[in-house]
Amino acid sequence: MDFVQAGPELANQYTDDRRLRAHLVRALPSATLAAIEPDLEALGAHAAQAWRDARSRTRAEPTLTQWDAWGARIDRIEITPVWRDGAALTARYGFVAAGHDTRHGEFARIDQFARVYLYHVASEFYTCPLAMSDGAATALKASGNRALIERAVPHLLARDPSQLWLSGQWMTETSGGSDVGSTETIAQRGSDGRWRLNGRKWFTSAVVAEMALTLARPEGDAKHAGTADELALFYVETRDGDGRWNGIRIDRLKDKLGTRELPTAEVHLENAIAEPVGELSHGVRLIAPVLNVTRTWNTICALATMRRCLALATDYARRRRAFGRPLIEQPLHASTLASLHAEFAAAFELGFFAVALLGRVETGVASEDERALLRLLTPLAKLWTGKLAVRVASETCEAFGGAGYIENTGIPQLLRDAQVYPIWEGTTNVLALDALRVLAKGGVDPYRRAIEGVLRETHAHPQPIDAAIAASARWLHEHDGAAREAGARGLALTLARTFAAALLARERDGGDEEAGAALALFLDHGLDRLAGTGIAHADALLR
Ligand SMILES: Cc1cc2nc3c(=O)[nH]c(=O)nc-3n(C[C@H](O)[C@H](O)[C@H](O)COP(=O)(O)OP(=O)(O)OC[C@H]3O[C@@H](n4cnc5c(N)ncnc54)[C@H](O)[C@@H]3O)c2cc1C
Repeated sequence: MDFVQAGPELANQYTDDRRLRAHLVRALPSATLAAIEPDLEALGAHAAQAWRDARSRTRAEPTLTQWDAWGARIDRIEITPVWRDGAALTARYGFVAAGHDTRHGEFARIDQFARVYLYHVASEFYTCPLAMSDGAATALKASGNRALIERAVPHLLARDPSQLWLSGQWMTETSGGSDVGSTETIAQRGSDGRWRLNGRKWFTSAVVAEMALTLARPEGDAKHAGTADELALFYVETRDGDGRWNGIRIDRLKDKLGTRELPTAEVHLENAIAEPVGELSHGVRLIAPVLNVTRTWNTICALATMRRCLALATDYARRRRAFGRPLIEQPLHASTLASLHAEFAAAFELGFFAVALLGRVETGVASEDERALLRLLTPLAKLWTGKLAVRVASETCEAFGGAGYIENTGIPQLLRDAQVYPIWEGTTNVLALDALRVLAKGGVDPYRRAIEGVLRETHAHPQPIDAAIAASARWLHEHDGAAREAGARGLALTLARTFAAALLARERDGGDEEAGAALALFLDHGLDRLAGTGIAHADALLR
């Protein structure tokens, strides 16, 4: 009657992570790794401590106070204690700045995302505004707008917490998140020459940020009226010089399934002063660099959640006994966990490969093929890791039995939080269609050549990889129109899994035994997810 089960424990999340460490040894010059390793160890220790701390306190959530005692509108948001530490940690470890640091050349993004991967779960989604800040810095730099670059970028990349700014990315409106072409916010130029925005932004996750990039429809722009190009990208500072809101009214904070520490607001813009980032059209194109960066953050954060789930579930399987032995010695439980480890290992390789590619493209050392490949792998990695994180988190709840359903074990939160990865920054379908557009333009050849390049570094060429590439090319050839769109998810997942398998094969042949075991299991699960087209039956089923 007195038995009390010991809960799971986390070791240092850097030193304990064989996948991350093996990857960094291969991907980084040894001097770079030696320079950043003390920070990675400190972040690994922080992750473990933050997990313990979170178990011993009541969870906090942000609050919005709209009115003061006398009836004045104040719209004050109080953030959680973990969020209050965010600026200091960001400045100290350069979660945004490291990605733009020229000292590490093409490896800057690997350095940055190793840090983000270790910090993410402990940050309680403070990484969401960091992702958007990184995206904003990247988009502003790409815009060539000197005044805005000088004004905002040093703050976004600051290593001094008192100078650090966060940026929002306000795209989603009630009329559309995937289809931002339906944006209703209007930009008007006043007689003073300044632009003012009026409209409603339906999801603004970084409303506590100092600035935001947002889309609006410039009024009186006869040249682009009625075309898809008519949206412009605007820069907004959220407060005026006296600290008052710049024409922003906060209607409420969203009551969300997960990411509850992240204040996501609905706001009205009422004459918010704004500056165009570039020309008064093609705003969607100008904001594209934000999306490429935030999708990469999403991939790495989804991987971080999976890694946390697996670390906890595997530790618990060693502690918990059933039917006379630890769960880890029960063949079916061990094989269930090992299957998840294999999927995670493959997704990890794809995610960090995309990160390395981003660094090569941004520093101008990438070939034309690599540029095309990044454009394809960014949505593929995001959509696959987003879905996989939900699956891994759900299996993790089950791996804890009843305890996995109990709030203060910390396990249910992992599942609720994971469900955001496939939704924001482009849903699975939207990204699958994006990948289809890339393939329609450039075909599968850059992808095929890249896999061949990866496999040149291997001894044994796994046959299922060739078979999956051939099947994908055939599928594309045989499907078009609605049938092709309807099967886009299956194609995207097949391409993502196949590329990941090639990367695992390379790791295996580089002497990484764990990668070899992961590859064997991963291939067992199959690479091909090509679908017969559901569209043929949709009418009958959805009637
Ligand atoms: C916690 C949270 C925070 C967020 N923070 C922000 C933020 O800070 N800034 C911001 O701008 N947005 C933010 N979002 C919004 C998010 O980006 C959008 O919800 C998302 O892009 C989807 O848009 P939507 O909600 O309008 O869904 P819809 O676009 O209406 O999509 C509904 C469904 O239709 C599917 N669909 C849409 N078009 C197609 C198509 N052509 N073919 C097939 N399927 C399709 C989608 O896959 C989806 O399943 C946040 C969302 C969440 C949950």
